Amino acid sequence: MTEEYVDQELIREAGRIIREGGLVAFPTETVYGLGGDALNPLSSRKIYAAKGRPSDNPLIVHIANLDDLAPIVREVPESARKLADHFWPGPLTMILHKSERVPHETTGGLDTVAVRMPANRIAQQMILAAGGYVAAPSANRSSRPSPTIAKYVAEDLGGRVEMIIDGGDVEIGLESTIVDLTSDSPMILRPGYITRQKLEEVLCEVEEDSTILKADSGQAPKAPGMKYRHYAPKGELTVVKGTEADVVRYINEQCRLHRAKSKKTGVISTDETQTLYRVDVCRSVGGREDEQTIARELYRVLREFDDDEVEIIYAEAFKDSGIGQAIMNRLIKAAGYRIVSV
Ligand code: AMP
Ligand code: MG
Repeated sequence: MTEEYVDQELIREAGRIIREGGLVAFPTETVYGLGGDALNPLSSRKIYAAKGRPSDNPLIVHIANLDDLAPIVREVPESARKLADHFWPGPLTMILHKSERVPHETTGGLDTVAVRMPANRIAQQMILAAGGYVAAPSANRSSRPSPTIAKYVAEDLGGRVEMIIDGGDVEIGLESTIVDLTSDSPMILRPGYITRQKLEEVLCEVEEDSTILKADSGQAPKAPGMKYRHYAPKGELTVVKGTEADVVRYINEQCRLHRAKSKKTGVISTDETQTLYRVDVCRSVGGREDEQTIARELYRVLREFDDDEVEIIYAEAFKDSGIGQAIMNRLIKAAGYRIVSV
């Protein structure tokens, strides 16, 4: 199904399933989502169960009309209006004080609610058909990389959801930027495609949760979900920082040792370095400067290492500014904070 042609019968059926308390996995521009009725506590419980997700990890409520924001929040602050104006529909999630209409099951017990308006047309039409409010975390089993194609949704959630809508490849490949608007100054809780710089063009000053790029600082991240191990491939993943030559030398040496012990080795490389590795499986995520491609390819590549049963994986580190910050945030979490500087 292409973005231009959306099968209306399918949309109606998906909407009916969600309104009756069932679950539908669907494409968004960031990653595939696992959708249920955000205002029905039983639907949210089902989402947690299908994902194997801890119930203190709140869900993002997806809307398709700006008018649908006010009923689910206590108030719409000026900052939210401005951000919505610039970035909705799109990959930005805002945290606001919730209204009575949103059950605590959806917000992981919090009095705040995360809201996003996705840009994908299938998602928008499905949300409207479902009644306007769809709670949707990424459509993966908890701790697995988020799915960027429908095949990976089926692998993780097949048999646990009533319907999976195949919308082809996603555009962005990393989850939305999350910005908290409930305290004095706006704060980024999860970096994403919409960078701090872009937000500051609209809001002047935006802070950042200090745990975003740090290895276990002992501090709890402000987005409950950020504390869990995430995005992880099945093999042991290590991120290697350093100059290109040092990184290539170190990874080749380590992989030689692992291969001597009959371990299957893999590398996440860039186009520039792809031919330099002597390992079992080498996968490039794109050109080193092409952040958009790297973002789109990262989760797919992590999943492909699972398909190939790679046991030991090394990844080159990427630059951690702009969208690179979101890429590195996901990568070091996927590595369980195993980072080596050479
Ligand atoms: P996912 O939908 O799987 O991309 O995960 C949603 C993310 O949003 C998790 O990291 C949650 O902890 C975070 N989140 C959702 N609602 C809230 C909230 N009310 N306050 C802070 N973080 C939230
Ligand atoms: Mg997720």
